Amino acid sequence: MRRTVMVILDGLRRDFVTPATTPFLHTFAARSRRFDAFRSAFPSATRVVSATFATGCHPARHTLQGNAMALLENGRLVPHDVGRPEFLRHKRAVTGRALAEPTLAERLAPCGGMILFNNVSPGAAMAHDPDGFGHVYHRAVSVAPGGTPAADPLRVTLDAAGDRAMTERFVPEVLHQRRPALAVLWCGEPDHIQHNAALGSPEHLAVLREADRNAGMVFEAVARERDAGDDILLIIGSDHGHETVSGVIDVEAELVAAGLKQDADSSDVVAMANGTSTLIYLQPKQESRRDDLENFLRTRSWAGNVVAADALGTIGQAAWNGLSFAVSMAADGSANSFGVPGQSLVAKPRWDKPDRLGCGQHGGLGRFEQAPFLMIDGPAFASGTVTRDPAHIVDLAPTILHHLRVAAPGLDGHALQVDVAGPRSAI
Ligand SMILES: [Zn+2]
Repeated sequence: MRRTVMVILDGLRRDFVTPATTPFLHTFAARSRRFDAFRSAFPSATRVVSATFATGCHPARHTLQGNAMALLENGRLVPHDVGRPEFLRHKRAVTGRALAEPTLAERLAPCGGMILFNNVSPGAAMAHDPDGFGHVYHRAVSVAPGGTPAADPLRVTLDAAGDRAMTERFVPEVLHQRRPALAVLWCGEPDHIQHNAALGSPEHLAVLREADRNAGMVFEAVARERDAGDDILLIIGSDHGHETVSGVIDVEAELVAAGLKQDADSSDVVAMANGTSTLIYLQPKQESRRDDLENFLRTRSWAGNVVAADALGTIGQAAWNGLSFAVSMAADGSANSFGVPGQSLVAKPRWDKPDRLGCGQHGGLGRFEQAPFLMIDGPAFASGTVTRDPAHIVDLAPTILHHLRVAAPGLDGHALQVDVAGPRSAI
Protein backbone atom coordinates (compact mmCIF):
# COMPACT_ATOMS: atom_id res chain seq x y z
CA MET A 1 0.00 0.00 0.00
CA ARG A 2 1.30 3.44 -0.94
CA ARG A 3 1.19 5.98 1.88
CA THR A 4 2.75 9.28 2.82
CA VAL A 5 3.70 10.37 6.32
CA MET A 6 4.80 13.91 7.10
CA VAL A 7 6.17 15.33 10.33
CA ILE A 8 6.50 19.11 10.75
CA LEU A 9 8.48 20.49 13.68
CA ASP A 10 7.06 24.00 13.52
CA GLY A 11 9.62 26.77 13.26
CA LEU A 12 12.79 24.62 13.37
CA ARG A 13 15.62 26.42 11.59
CA ARG A 14 17.88 24.43 9.33
CA ASP A 15 21.03 25.50 11.19
CA PHE A 16 19.67 23.99 14.43
CA VAL A 17 19.71 20.51 12.90
CA THR A 18 23.05 19.30 14.27
CA PRO A 19 24.35 16.11 15.95
CA ALA A 20 24.24 17.85 19.34
CA THR A 21 20.84 19.57 19.13
CA THR A 22 18.82 17.05 17.11
CA PRO A 23 20.59 13.68 17.16
CA PHE A 24 17.75 11.75 15.49
CA LEU A 25 17.44 14.23 12.60
CA HIS A 26 21.19 14.10 12.14
CA THR A 27 21.06 10.33 11.65
CA PHE A 28 17.92 10.61 9.51
CA ALA A 29 19.88 12.83 7.11
CA ALA A 30 22.10 9.84 6.33
CA ARG A 31 19.18 7.82 5.02
CA SER A 32 17.16 10.59 3.36
CA ARG A 33 17.63 13.33 0.75
CA ARG A 34 18.22 16.72 2.37
CA PHE A 35 17.08 19.94 0.72
CA ASP A 36 19.46 22.70 1.77
CA ALA A 37 17.77 25.44 -0.27
CA PHE A 38 14.26 24.73 1.02
CA ARG A 39 12.20 27.91 1.41
CA SER A 40 9.02 28.94 3.15
CA ALA A 41 6.07 30.93 1.82
CA PHE A 42 5.59 34.68 2.18
CA PRO A 43 4.50 35.64 4.76
CA SER A 44 6.54 32.90 6.43
CA ALA A 45 3.70 32.45 8.90
CA THR A 46 2.09 29.15 9.84
CA ARG A 47 -1.49 29.70 8.60
CA VAL A 48 -0.25 30.91 5.21
CA VAL A 49 2.29 28.08 4.99
CA SER A 50 -0.40 25.55 5.93
CA ALA A 51 -2.70 26.72 3.11
CA THR A 52 0.26 26.80 0.72
CA PHE A 53 1.25 23.26 1.69
CA ALA A 54 -2.32 21.99 1.48
CA THR A 55 -3.03 23.43 -1.98
CA GLY A 56 0.40 23.20 -3.61
CA CYS A 57 -0.26 26.77 -4.71
CA HIS A 58 1.08 30.14 -3.63
CA PRO A 59 -1.10 32.62 -1.71
CA ALA A 60 -1.73 34.44 -5.03
CA ARG A 61 -3.94 31.47 -5.96
CA HIS A 62 -5.27 30.05 -2.67
CA THR A 63 -5.92 33.66 -1.45
CA LEU A 64 -5.13 33.18 2.24
CA GLN A 65 -2.79 36.16 2.11
CA GLY A 66 -1.57 36.30 5.70
CA ASN A 67 -1.88 35.10 9.28
CA ALA A 68 -3.63 38.43 9.60
CA MET A 69 -5.20 39.97 6.48
CA ALA A 70 -7.87 42.39 5.33
CA LEU A 71 -10.94 41.59 3.26
CA LEU A 72 -12.75 44.04 1.01
CA GLU A 73 -16.31 43.94 2.31
CA ASN A 74 -18.82 46.23 0.59
CA GLY A 75 -15.93 48.35 -0.65
CA ARG A 76 -14.38 48.75 2.80
CA LEU A 77 -11.19 47.12 4.07
CA VAL A 78 -11.96 45.03 7.16
CA PRO A 79 -9.02 43.67 9.18
CA HIS A 80 -9.17 40.01 10.25
CA ASP A 81 -7.22 37.65 12.48
CA VAL A 82 -6.99 34.42 10.46
CA GLY A 83 -6.36 32.46 13.68
CA ARG A 84 -9.96 32.87 14.82
CA PRO A 85 -11.92 29.65 14.25
CA GLU A 86 -14.72 31.41 12.32
CA PHE A 87 -12.47 33.35 9.92
CA LEU A 88 -12.43 30.84 7.04
CA ARG A 89 -16.24 30.52 7.17
CA HIS A 90 -16.45 34.31 7.02
CA LYS A 91 -13.99 34.46 4.13
CA ARG A 92 -16.08 31.86 2.28
CA ALA A 93 -19.17 34.02 2.79
CA VAL A 94 -17.41 37.19 1.59
CA THR A 95 -15.27 35.88 -1.27
CA GLY A 96 -17.01 32.61 -2.23
CA ARG A 97 -14.17 30.32 -1.16
CA ALA A 98 -12.35 29.57 2.11
CA LEU A 99 -9.35 28.63 -0.04
CA ALA A 100 -9.58 29.24 -3.77
CA GLU A 101 -7.76 26.01 -4.69
CA PRO A 102 -8.46 22.38 -3.69
CA THR A 103 -6.58 20.97 -0.71
CA LEU A 104 -4.78 17.66 -0.34
CA ALA A 105 -7.63 16.59 1.94
CA GLU A 106 -10.09 17.15 -0.93
CA ARG A 107 -7.91 15.49 -3.58
CA LEU A 108 -7.27 12.46 -1.36
CA ALA A 109 -10.78 12.04 0.02
CA PRO A 110 -11.69 9.41 -2.64
CA CYS A 111 -8.34 7.60 -2.43
CA GLY A 112 -7.24 6.88 1.11
CA GLY A 113 -7.94 10.19 2.83
CA MET A 114 -5.96 12.53 5.07
CA ILE A 115 -5.60 12.58 8.83
CA LEU A 116 -3.91 15.62 10.39
CA PHE A 117 -2.81 15.86 14.03
CA ASN A 118 -1.95 19.50 14.69
CA ASN A 119 -0.77 21.38 17.77
CA VAL A 120 -0.38 24.95 16.45
CA SER A 121 -3.18 27.57 16.18
CA PRO A 122 -6.74 26.44 15.36
CA GLY A 123 -6.72 28.73 12.30
CA ALA A 124 -3.57 27.04 11.01
CA ALA A 125 -5.07 23.58 11.56
CA MET A 126 -8.26 24.50 9.71
CA ALA A 127 -6.27 26.02 6.81
CA HIS A 128 -5.35 22.45 5.83
CA ASP A 129 -8.96 21.47 5.25
CA PRO A 130 -11.46 24.29 5.64
CA ASP A 131 -14.18 22.51 3.67
CA GLY A 132 -14.16 19.32 5.74
CA PHE A 133 -12.87 16.56 3.47
CA GLY A 134 -10.50 14.84 5.90
CA HIS A 135 -9.89 14.36 9.59
CA VAL A 136 -8.38 17.30 11.49
CA TYR A 137 -7.39 16.82 15.13
CA HIS A 138 -6.43 19.91 17.11
CA ARG A 139 -6.52 20.63 20.83
CA ALA A 140 -9.26 23.27 20.26
CA VAL A 141 -11.20 21.73 17.38
CA SER A 142 -11.31 18.13 16.08
CA VAL A 143 -13.46 17.45 13.03
CA ALA A 144 -14.38 14.47 10.86
CA PRO A 145 -15.30 14.58 7.14
CA GLY A 146 -18.32 16.78 6.56
CA GLY A 147 -17.12 19.12 9.27
CA THR A 148 -18.85 17.19 12.04
CA PRO A 149 -17.17 17.05 15.45
CA ALA A 150 -14.80 14.10 15.80
CA ALA A 151 -15.87 11.46 18.29
CA ASP A 152 -12.40 11.31 19.78
CA PRO A 153 -11.05 14.90 20.00
CA LEU A 154 -7.40 15.62 20.61
CA ARG A 155 -6.80 16.86 24.14
CA VAL A 156 -3.24 18.09 24.55
CA THR A 157 -1.43 21.21 25.73
CA LEU A 158 0.53 23.59 23.50
CA ASP A 159 4.01 22.69 24.73
CA ALA A 160 6.57 19.91 24.50
CA ALA A 161 4.50 17.61 26.73
CA GLY A 162 1.47 18.15 24.47
CA ASP A 163 3.48 17.35 21.36
CA ARG A 164 4.74 14.20 23.06
CA ALA A 165 1.21 13.11 23.99
CA MET A 166 -0.02 13.88 20.46
CA THR A 167 2.81 11.81 18.93
CA GLU A 168 2.17 8.91 21.30
CA ARG A 169 -1.44 8.82 20.09
CA PHE A 170 -0.59 9.45 16.41
CA VAL A 171 1.80 6.51 16.07
CA PRO A 172 -0.44 3.60 17.10
CA GLU A 173 -3.74 5.09 15.98
CA VAL A 174 -2.90 6.77 12.68
CA LEU A 175 0.25 5.01 11.46
CA HIS A 176 -0.50 1.46 12.60
CA GLN A 177 -4.30 1.25 12.64
CA ARG A 178 -6.10 3.83 10.48
CA ARG A 179 -3.36 4.08 7.81
CA PRO A 180 -4.62 6.95 5.61
CA ALA A 181 -2.99 7.87 2.29
CA LEU A 182 -1.64 11.00 3.99
CA ALA A 183 -0.86 11.18 7.70
CA VAL A 184 0.45 14.52 8.98
CA LEU A 185 1.85 15.20 12.45
CA TRP A 186 2.31 18.99 12.82
CA CYS A 187 3.96 19.71 16.17
CA GLY A 188 3.76 23.06 17.96
CA GLU A 189 7.38 22.91 19.07
CA PRO A 190 9.93 24.34 18.74
CA ASP A 191 7.93 27.33 17.44
CA HIS A 192 6.10 27.79 20.75
CA ILE A 193 9.25 27.92 22.90
CA GLN A 194 11.05 30.08 20.32
CA HIS A 195 8.37 32.79 20.72
CA ASN A 196 8.93 32.71 24.48
CA ALA A 197 12.68 32.14 24.96
CA ALA A 198 15.85 33.21 23.22
CA LEU A 199 17.05 31.10 20.30
CA GLY A 200 19.95 28.99 21.54
CA SER A 201 18.98 29.32 25.23
CA PRO A 202 19.01 26.21 27.45
CA GLU A 203 15.16 26.15 27.49
CA HIS A 204 15.10 26.25 23.70
CA LEU A 205 17.70 23.52 23.27
CA ALA A 206 15.89 21.26 25.74
CA VAL A 207 12.67 21.53 23.71
CA LEU A 208 14.57 20.87 20.47
CA ARG A 209 15.68 17.52 21.87
CA GLU A 210 12.05 16.68 22.71
CA ALA A 211 10.90 17.64 19.20
CA ASP A 212 13.70 15.55 17.72
CA ARG A 213 12.61 12.55 19.79
CA ASN A 214 9.02 12.84 18.50
CA ALA A 215 10.27 12.75 14.90
CA GLY A 216 12.34 9.69 15.81
CA MET A 217 9.26 7.94 17.20
CA VAL A 218 7.45 8.41 13.90
CA PHE A 219 10.45 7.18 11.91
CA GLU A 220 10.59 3.96 13.94
CA ALA A 221 6.87 3.38 13.38
CA VAL A 222 7.26 3.99 9.63
CA ALA A 223 10.11 1.46 9.57
CA ARG A 224 7.81 -1.15 11.11
CA GLU A 225 5.10 -0.45 8.52
CA ARG A 226 7.65 -0.68 5.72
CA ASP A 227 8.84 -4.02 7.07
CA ALA A 228 5.21 -5.14 6.85
CA GLY A 229 5.17 -4.22 3.14
CA ASP A 230 3.88 -0.67 2.83
CA ASP A 231 5.53 1.75 0.37
CA ILE A 232 5.82 4.87 2.54
CA LEU A 233 7.16 8.27 1.60
CA LEU A 234 8.40 9.92 4.81
CA ILE A 235 8.80 13.71 4.84
CA ILE A 236 10.29 15.41 7.91
CA GLY A 237 10.72 19.17 7.90
CA SER A 238 9.60 22.52 9.18
CA ASP A 239 7.40 25.30 7.86
CA HIS A 240 9.68 28.31 8.44
CA GLY A 241 12.60 29.33 10.63
CA HIS A 242 12.86 32.15 13.16
CA GLU A 243 14.76 35.40 13.63
CA THR A 244 15.47 37.13 16.93
CA VAL A 245 13.24 40.17 17.55
CA SER A 246 15.41 43.31 17.66
CA GLY A 247 12.62 45.91 17.83
CA VAL A 248 8.88 46.48 17.39
CA ILE A 249 7.53 48.99 14.85
CA ASP A 250 3.93 50.24 14.91
CA VAL A 251 3.52 50.50 11.14
CA GLU A 252 -0.05 51.80 11.28
CA ALA A 253 0.92 54.56 13.73
CA GLU A 254 3.76 55.52 11.37
CA LEU A 255 1.30 55.75 8.47
CA VAL A 256 -1.07 57.92 10.52
CA ALA A 257 1.80 60.19 11.66
CA ALA A 258 2.89 60.61 8.03
CA GLY A 259 -0.62 61.63 6.96
CA LEU A 260 -1.02 58.53 4.80
CA LYS A 261 -3.80 56.98 6.90
CA GLN A 262 -6.66 58.87 8.48
CA ASP A 263 -6.55 57.35 11.97
CA ALA A 264 -5.86 54.09 13.77
CA ASP A 265 -9.29 52.64 12.98
CA SER A 266 -9.75 54.03 9.46
CA SER A 267 -10.21 51.69 6.50
CA ASP A 268 -8.56 53.85 3.82
CA VAL A 269 -5.17 52.18 4.33
CA VAL A 270 -4.79 49.05 6.46
CA ALA A 271 -1.48 47.50 7.50
CA MET A 272 -1.76 43.91 8.73
CA ALA A 273 1.21 42.79 10.83
CA ASN A 274 2.48 39.29 10.13
CA GLY A 275 5.39 39.04 12.56
CA THR A 276 8.48 40.20 10.69
CA SER A 277 6.42 41.37 7.73
CA THR A 278 3.38 43.50 7.08
CA LEU A 279 0.77 43.48 4.33
CA ILE A 280 -0.47 46.93 3.30
CA TYR A 281 -3.92 47.25 1.76
CA LEU A 282 -5.24 50.31 -0.08
CA GLN A 283 -8.96 50.92 -0.47
CA PRO A 284 -9.81 51.21 -4.21
CA LYS A 285 -11.13 54.76 -3.77
CA GLN A 286 -7.75 55.84 -2.34
CA GLU A 287 -5.74 54.92 -5.45
CA SER A 288 -4.28 58.45 -5.63
CA ARG A 289 -2.36 57.72 -2.43
CA ARG A 290 -0.37 54.81 -3.89
CA ASP A 291 2.74 56.75 -5.02
CA ASP A 292 3.06 58.62 -1.72
CA LEU A 293 2.71 55.35 0.17
CA GLU A 294 5.42 53.73 -1.92
CA ASN A 295 7.79 56.67 -1.50
CA PHE A 296 7.20 56.58 2.25
CA LEU A 297 7.77 52.85 2.59
CA ARG A 298 10.90 52.85 0.43
CA THR A 299 12.54 55.51 2.61
CA ARG A 300 11.85 53.86 6.00
CA SER A 301 14.86 52.32 7.74
CA TRP A 302 12.55 49.71 9.30
CA ALA A 303 11.41 48.41 5.89
CA GLY A 304 13.85 45.77 4.62
CA ASN A 305 12.15 44.69 1.37
CA VAL A 306 9.27 46.67 -0.08
CA VAL A 307 7.38 44.77 -2.77
CA ALA A 308 4.91 46.85 -4.80
CA ALA A 309 1.73 45.54 -6.39
CA ASP A 310 3.23 44.81 -9.81
CA ALA A 311 5.99 42.69 -8.24
CA LEU A 312 3.89 40.72 -5.73
CA GLY A 313 4.07 37.68 -8.01
CA THR A 314 7.79 37.38 -7.25
CA ILE A 315 6.92 36.45 -3.64
CA GLY A 316 3.87 34.33 -4.44
CA GLN A 317 1.31 37.05 -3.75
CA ALA A 318 -1.06 39.00 -6.00
CA ALA A 319 -2.69 42.43 -5.93
CA TRP A 320 -6.03 40.85 -5.00
CA ASN A 321 -8.47 42.26 -2.51
CA GLY A 322 -6.72 45.63 -2.15
CA LEU A 323 -3.29 44.22 -1.29
CA SER A 324 -0.89 46.91 -2.52
CA PHE A 325 2.47 46.45 -0.79
CA ALA A 326 4.25 43.69 1.07
CA VAL A 327 7.00 44.74 3.45
CA SER A 328 9.56 42.42 4.98
CA MET A 329 10.92 44.22 8.02
CA ALA A 330 14.62 45.10 8.21
CA ALA A 331 16.75 42.11 9.23
CA ASP A 332 20.48 41.50 9.58
CA GLY A 333 22.87 38.70 10.37
CA SER A 334 23.90 39.91 13.82
CA ALA A 335 23.92 37.44 16.71
CA ASN A 336 21.65 37.31 19.76
CA SER A 337 22.84 36.87 23.35
CA PHE A 338 23.45 33.14 22.72
CA GLY A 339 25.44 33.73 19.54
CA VAL A 340 22.60 32.74 17.19
CA PRO A 341 22.70 34.85 14.00
CA GLY A 342 19.71 36.62 12.44
CA GLN A 343 17.81 39.51 14.01
CA SER A 344 14.81 41.34 12.63
CA LEU A 345 12.38 44.10 13.44
CA VAL A 346 8.75 43.07 13.76
CA ALA A 347 5.51 44.88 12.97
CA LYS A 348 3.35 45.55 16.04
CA PRO A 349 0.32 43.25 15.85
CA ARG A 350 -3.19 44.67 15.97
CA TRP A 351 -4.63 42.16 18.45
CA ASP A 352 -1.94 39.93 19.93
CA LYS A 353 0.43 41.21 22.54
CA PRO A 354 3.60 42.66 21.01
CA ASP A 355 6.47 40.30 20.42
CA ARG A 356 9.10 39.86 23.08
CA LEU A 357 12.43 41.50 22.39
CA GLY A 358 15.18 38.90 22.28
CA CYS A 359 12.80 36.01 21.53
CA GLY A 360 12.03 34.51 18.13
CA GLN A 361 9.59 35.59 15.41
CA HIS A 362 9.01 35.01 11.71
CA GLY A 363 6.81 36.13 8.82
CA GLY A 364 9.20 37.84 6.43
CA LEU A 365 11.94 37.16 3.93
CA GLY A 366 14.85 37.16 6.39
CA ARG A 367 17.59 34.65 5.70
CA PHE A 368 16.97 32.47 8.76
CA GLU A 369 13.15 32.55 8.78
CA GLN A 370 13.36 31.47 5.13
CA ALA A 371 15.58 28.51 6.07
CA PRO A 372 13.31 25.70 7.25
CA PHE A 373 14.68 22.16 6.99
CA LEU A 374 13.46 19.36 4.76
CA MET A 375 14.45 15.70 4.51
CA ILE A 376 12.60 13.12 2.42
CA ASP A 377 13.04 9.35 2.70
CA GLY A 378 11.45 7.11 0.10
CA PRO A 379 11.52 5.95 -3.50
CA ALA A 380 13.33 8.41 -5.82
CA PHE A 381 15.07 10.11 -2.88
CA ALA A 382 18.64 8.83 -2.69
CA SER A 383 19.82 8.15 0.87
CA GLY A 384 22.44 10.44 2.33
CA THR A 385 22.31 12.97 -0.50
CA VAL A 386 22.11 16.75 -0.23
CA THR A 387 20.78 19.11 -2.86
CA ARG A 388 20.78 22.87 -3.15
CA ASP A 389 18.28 22.79 -5.99
CA PRO A 390 15.37 25.15 -5.35
CA ALA A 391 12.68 23.60 -3.15
CA HIS A 392 9.68 25.38 -1.67
CA ILE A 393 6.84 24.53 0.66
CA VAL A 394 4.61 24.62 -2.43
CA ASP A 395 6.48 21.57 -3.80
CA LEU A 396 5.36 19.21 -1.03
CA ALA A 397 1.79 18.61 -2.25
CA PRO A 398 2.91 17.61 -5.77
CA THR A 399 5.60 15.39 -4.22
CA ILE A 400 3.00 13.63 -2.05
CA LEU A 401 0.52 13.29 -4.92
CA HIS A 402 3.22 11.92 -7.22
CA HIS A 403 4.07 9.21 -4.67
CA LEU A 404 0.39 8.34 -4.27
CA ARG A 405 -0.12 8.29 -8.07
CA VAL A 406 -2.84 10.94 -7.88
CA ALA A 407 -2.84 13.28 -10.88
CA ALA A 408 -3.06 16.99 -10.08
CA PRO A 409 -1.96 19.09 -13.03
CA GLY A 410 -1.55 22.83 -12.79
CA LEU A 411 -0.23 23.22 -9.25
CA ASP A 412 2.34 25.95 -8.62
CA GLY A 413 4.74 23.47 -7.02
CA HIS A 414 6.73 20.68 -8.60
CA ALA A 415 7.30 17.11 -7.41
CA LEU A 416 10.76 16.78 -5.83
CA GLN A 417 11.38 13.14 -6.86
CA VAL A 418 14.56 12.89 -8.93
CA ASP A 419 12.74 11.00 -11.68
CA VAL A 420 10.43 13.96 -12.30
CA ALA A 421 11.74 16.43 -14.85
CA GLY A 422 10.54 19.97 -15.27
CA PRO A 423 10.93 23.50 -14.05
CA ARG A 424 11.72 24.13 -10.40
CA SER A 425 10.13 26.75 -8.20
CA ALA A 426 11.23 30.24 -9.19
CA ILE A 427 10.25 31.80 -5.85
ZN1 LIG B 1 4.95 27.76 11.99
